[in-house]
Amino acid sequence: MAQVTCSFCGRNKKDVDLMVSGISAHICNYCIEQAFQILGEEDKTKKHSKKPKFKLKKPKELTAYLDEYVISQQEAKKVLTVAVYNHYKRLGQKEEMDDEVKIEKSNIIMVGDTGTGKTYLAKTLAKTLEVPFCIADATVLTEAGYVGEDVESILTRLLQAADYNVEAAERGIVYIDELDKIARKSDNPSITRDVSGEGVQQAMLKLLEGTTVNVPPQGGRKHPDQKMISVNTENILFICGGAFDGIGRHIASRLNTQPMGFSKKSNAEVVDRNNLLQYVTAQDLKAYGLIPELIGRLPVITHLDPLDKATLKRILTEPKNALTKQYIKLMKMENVVLEFEESGIDFIVEKAVEFNLGARGLRSICEAIITDAMYEFPSVEEEQTLIIDRDYASSQFEKSKFKKLQVA
Ligand code: ADP
Repeated sequence: MAQVTCSFCGRNKKDVDLMVSGISAHICNYCIEQAFQILGEEDKTKKHSKKPKFKLKKPKELTAYLDEYVISQQEAKKVLTVAVYNHYKRLGQKEEMDDEVKIEKSNIIMVGDTGTGKTYLAKTLAKTLEVPFCIADATVLTEAGYVGEDVESILTRLLQAADYNVEAAERGIVYIDELDKIARKSDNPSITRDVSGEGVQQAMLKLLEGTTVNVPPQGGRKHPDQKMISVNTENILFICGGAFDGIGRHIASRLNTQPMGFSKKSNAEVVDRNNLLQYVTAQDLKAYGLIPELIGRLPVITHLDPLDKATLKRILTEPKNALTKQYIKLMKMENVVLEFEESGIDFIVEKAVEFNLGARGLRSICEAIITDAMYEFPSVEEEQTLIIDRDYASSQFEKSKFKKLQVA
């Protein structure tokens, strides 16, 4: 009988694990695997060469989507969705550009206390737009040549998020967190080198305005023998956020020194001292230590409101993936019916306010309250009910590490 050999590599049947036979040919498991790999690579390049598409949703549609996840912050939502809408409209029009009116890019700056939802807003927005999105932290950036990361590393992240599809990355959204940390440290920049402050702001300018930047694909420092990927930042939307602690002082003093108008209307305008951020302008950001050139490239300024008790309560219960809904789902998997009573929810919110933890604290407080139950219930067979009211919440809370924080 003739020897059966692979028609592709010539291996003998006895040297392979599997030989598949067709009408007049055979293929061994090694060749099947190789062919499969080739298919995969083909697929990838096909995907990358396809023009990336994005959905153009109207500002109101975008806001409606954001509303499902992010509570309140209507002003920021409005400004953000309009800027994003215009930005993408601008992208769409590029190809058929025959008139002279050039719509300029509208990078955004968001000012709001930590934990009020700046990152969350940007993230949620990127999700609905289906474009590559990355978060970069301004605190790790330093001027080129100093310990830290070059500003180009921001784009490395975006490339990674886009699976190295440069064309998709060039339409992406970058959220730069903690922009306030690169504010100028002193009023007189000539006294000391300010490598993590003004130096970084200068380095960021070219990124924001739209040029071609050489990006190290793996991040880290540029070095001569690393192959760079060139990325054009012209169509990348930059959203910057920061708490700008203490900016209220600058806003207040500006509001106080503003010359009073003669119109009756201005007398009627009452300044809300509890939420000064709503009046933030480019002038205040400059006073805080951002250089005018940088502010110029971030023309859209918006603010986030501080979260009061009522808002925190809504955050805990209303969003599509609200914490209480998550815990109820988790417990249901263990055959436990979990119910949050209003008094229990109030307790959680009060503690978040008391410890000044904002929305971020809600989860840790919930964990402190529910961990015992999540530890015990999986070992119990029959169906159980757990009601979280004020009594239960406070007795569990007393046992937790938070209590110790309070004593200290
Ligand atoms: P920031 O970037 O302003 O410091 P984050 O966006 O990281 O704050 O918010 C921290 C977390 O708190 C978010 O992941 C989200 O779960 C929750 N959160 C904050 N603000 C809101 C809000 N307005 N609506 C819903 N959840 C919020």
